[in-house]
Amino acid sequence: TQSTRPQRLLHAVQKNATKGDPRSVVKAIDNFCRQKEWAMNVGDEKGCILDSVVSEVNPVTVLELGTYCGYSTVRIASLLPPRAKIITLEFNPDYAKIARQVIAWAGLEDKIQVVEGPSGEWIPKMKEQFGVKTFDLVFLDHWKDRYLPDTKLLEDCGLLRKGTILLADNVICPGTPDYLEYVRNSPRYKSQYFKSHLEYTKAEDGLEKSVFLG
Ligand code: SAM
Ligand code: MG
Repeated sequence: TQSTRPQRLLHAVQKNATKGDPRSVVKAIDNFCRQKEWAMNVGDEKGCILDSVVSEVNPVTVLELGTYCGYSTVRIASLLPPRAKIITLEFNPDYAKIARQVIAWAGLEDKIQVVEGPSGEWIPKMKEQFGVKTFDLVFLDHWKDRYLPDTKLLEDCGLLRKGTILLADNVICPGTPDYLEYVRNSPRYKSQYFKSHLEYTKAEDGLEKSVFLG
């Protein structure tokens, strides 16, 4: 039987990363993607920008939209203070299964909750199901046409507070024009672009960091 890319990525982690060492997991995935197969992780270059935002915000509650194999989840969780938690949403059960194994290899199960299902269904249930009041940081990295509707849903569900940071990946490539237009022009946000490159390539891409002003 043929293996899938996420399965091969997991095998690369189990072969090359040290159990319980999140940075070695990140490195094994980056090496796999640069040397063997491209994959849609935020990657090492934009990953450094992600790291600096996480360190600056020092969040206690984080929501990630789009888990895939758990690369960015591990990156974020490894930088969280004690008692902080990240909830990550993934609607593809095969990806969620791989992500749980990558996270376990990194030794970060205690900090991460992988939730299976579509963001549009889970966001309205966040408060009741997970006891979340508001998120300190939201990382948007799922399908690009969902950034804007899910941001509005987060607002409507009262999951953003004054000062919540939204960090959105791939705002140039593949691009999220309606979302960018919204966060850059709405008086409810102060927004800033961080220029970089599409994961594992030289094509321009970047992250948009937007502060919710309430
Ligand atoms: N954040 C990951 C990283 O950097 O390692 C990469 C995430 S990948 C670009 C996007 C993922 O979002 C895919 O695995 C896809 O199945 C998932 N996805 C897309 N739309 C979704 C939705 N509406 N709800 C939940 N998951 C979604
Ligand atoms: Mg991305």
